[in-house]
Amino acid sequence: MSARTGSLHERHRAVLPRWLTLYYERPLELTHGAGRHVWDADGNRYLDFFGGILTTMTAHALPEVAKAVGEQAQRLVHSSTLYLSRPMVELAERIADLSGIEDARVFFTTSGTEANDAALLLASAYRGGANQVLAMRNSYHGRSFSTVGITGNAAWSPTTLSPLQTLYVHGGVRTRGPYAALPDEEFIAAAVADLEDMLAHTRPAGVAALIAEPVQGVGGFTSGPDGLFAAFREVLAREGIVWISDEVQTGWGRTGDHFWGWQAHAAAGPPDLLTFAKGIGNGMSIGGVVGRADIMDALDANSISTFGGSPVTMAAGLANLGYLLEHDLQSNARRVGAELRERLVAGAEDLALVREVRGRGLMIAVEVVRPGTGEPDPAVAALVLERAREAGLLIGKGGGPGGSVLRIAPPLSLTGEEAREGAELLVAALAGVDAELAGRNG
Ligand code: PMP
Repeated sequence: MSARTGSLHERHRAVLPRWLTLYYERPLELTHGAGRHVWDADGNRYLDFFGGILTTMTAHALPEVAKAVGEQAQRLVHSSTLYLSRPMVELAERIADLSGIEDARVFFTTSGTEANDAALLLASAYRGGANQVLAMRNSYHGRSFSTVGITGNAAWSPTTLSPLQTLYVHGGVRTRGPYAALPDEEFIAAAVADLEDMLAHTRPAGVAALIAEPVQGVGGFTSGPDGLFAAFREVLAREGIVWISDEVQTGWGRTGDHFWGWQAHAAAGPPDLLTFAKGIGNGMSIGGVVGRADIMDALDANSISTFGGSPVTMAAGLANLGYLLEHDLQSNARRVGAELRERLVAGAEDLALVREVRGRGLMIAVEVVRPGTGEPDPAVAALVLERAREAGLLIGKGGGPGGSVLRIAPPLSLTGEEAREGAELLVAALAGVDAELAGRNG
């Protein structure tokens, strides 16, 4: 065995696969967090404008969740498979009631990938073994063999092989492609016509589902016009095709105006299956599918998940969900998110490198380009990320067909003051890079 020496980064590189990429030239080792802040191993403090998407939906080290996890861990850590589990039943009841799906059933997994995998399996079983799936261009649904197979964002799709046959649908990206210039209603009509044409070229009975993110997360916080999925739904319902809403990033009030992303398309009614993960456990690994009983019951064989629904993660989910409902963090996301967005729009007005500030609630994107060419450039996004970090602000990057989107998704408990501070830091970082690049060009 080789000696485990060197910096933590060197040891990381020596033992973990190279595609497990890290942010920053000098990657951060985070050691602890509180509220909306995290600290690194050198004692530097950062305002965390990205942890909300990754894991920490509500707040770092939330005492209510820590207490629930600690108490459950001391009482019983077992599988919720094979034995009755009160925390799992209780969280399933709450999620079923919140889902908007009548008489819903819930199945817990441990990640978003696995939740989507399960949803595809259920849809396929329900549709008599159909193995075609409609997915959106520029989508991201996970990194298992089946979910990379429905991930339309090429940067995250290492193989074209898939156990599924995937057909990619238009409509998730509003700003690019042949329909970009169309007003909302015409855009929707064009995307629907495309969907119908696609179905006319296949056998709809072989299509299990359409899976879509209401706002594409990894894809750069882009979305089609509100109502798009209501229009898709009419076509899908004609053929009995299952609509899966991947709410891994958009769920639990993050988009401010709605508790779920699908509600921006409410005329469609609720999806047939809804997948969730990430922040519901505020850091504990919970994923799952909630959906129509007839589809959820469609498996003709037993299926279990050893860790899905574990009492410890369910205790975290219950405490976290209770906290965010009690404190109405959805309204907070709407209010504070709107202020943050306005400040970023105003601050970016004169900056050549900002193409667009968009988003809803506490899911905000700043799309950057290289000044001069006006073209997306991941290197520009990376530079802003470095400067923001130097100023004590953590944000996300990547996304979009050009890979040049900065993503902002703070914990939902973000205060107005923190939003103002973060906006100032980010605008300063953007302005700094703008000047830096102008200097280089000049
Ligand atoms: N769906 C969406 C929309 C996601 O953003 C992600 C994670 N980025 C996943 C699924 C996969 O979730 P996980 O990483 O928990 O497997």
